[in-house]
Amino acid sequence: MRNVGTGIPVELLPGIYEVRASSDSPTEKYFAWISAFILTDPRGKEPVAVVDSGWPQTPRTLLIPALASLGFDPSRVATLVNTHSHPDHIQGNTALRALTGCQIWISDADAQGLQASGENYGQAFHAHEPDRHLHSHETVDLAGRQWEVIPLPGHSAGSIGLFNHHERILICGDALQAESHDVAGLAMLPDRQAYRAMLDRVANLGVRHLIPSHPFEPLRSTHLTPETEVTRYLDSCRRNVDEFEMQVHAALHALGGSASTTALAERLCLDRGIGRPCPLAGFALSIDRSHLERVGTIRSGDPGDVWHLA
Ligand SMILES: [Zn+2]
Repeated sequence: MRNVGTGIPVELLPGIYEVRASSDSPTEKYFAWISAFILTDPRGKEPVAVVDSGWPQTPRTLLIPALASLGFDPSRVATLVNTHSHPDHIQGNTALRALTGCQIWISDADAQGLQASGENYGQAFHAHEPDRHLHSHETVDLAGRQWEVIPLPGHSAGSIGLFNHHERILICGDALQAESHDVAGLAMLPDRQAYRAMLDRVANLGVRHLIPSHPFEPLRSTHLTPETEVTRYLDSCRRNVDEFEMQVHAALHALGGSASTTALAERLCLDRGIGRPCPLAGFALSIDRSHLERVGTIRSGDPGDVWHLA
């Protein structure tokens, strides 16, 4: 049961619920979704926390109904933590704060994504101030569990995970992309160097429950467990980043040595077994342009929409 867009919370672990919003509203023809998480105290004492707020309408249409079905009045939500500042994770921030009175917490490095121009990845939203900046490795109490703030840079500079040492749970947002999801087709990694180093650090955490925000390929799950599955997922993240330049080289070669962004992105998706266009693939690929120029995969100095093998 995919439960996308239903507002029906799925319990992943005692007190930890997933609420899925469509990644592709309203047509929903893709497999991917964006998950917000509701953290509740299994002993019923501490206030509720929410991780990520989804789209502008997600709090009203999905999160509040999900809370109600669990027996919580909106005023029980004390905290909203953003894993990072991209639109599918923060656009519901102001609505959730207005509906519940919660505080908004986000990492130092991604806080400017809320405050800046009110536009983020081309999507307009209400610029707003967070209530608290989270610092790397500080411990926060949320809904009766202790969580260490783990810096997970690569997808965004200030991406963070919440790690519970006791149960070895890591809620990781979009920081660990595996082979990306079928809306993007390609992993979005503006800082591939930081991503590689981060993968090593996560591998050493001994995560038993990995909880990403999207069903990233190829495992297509937002709750990876036990540890062997987490390892398989991390291996896929590693392989994907290691093979990327080679894949671009092969795809461009197959296209005769040069291609437009759209054609190259489509070819890359096809080569990876995704048989339909991914709406964000061209955008995802363009993020890697300067990286690919720097490492010598493509020729530098060409106009942005044309890609030539170096
Ligand atoms: Zn996302």
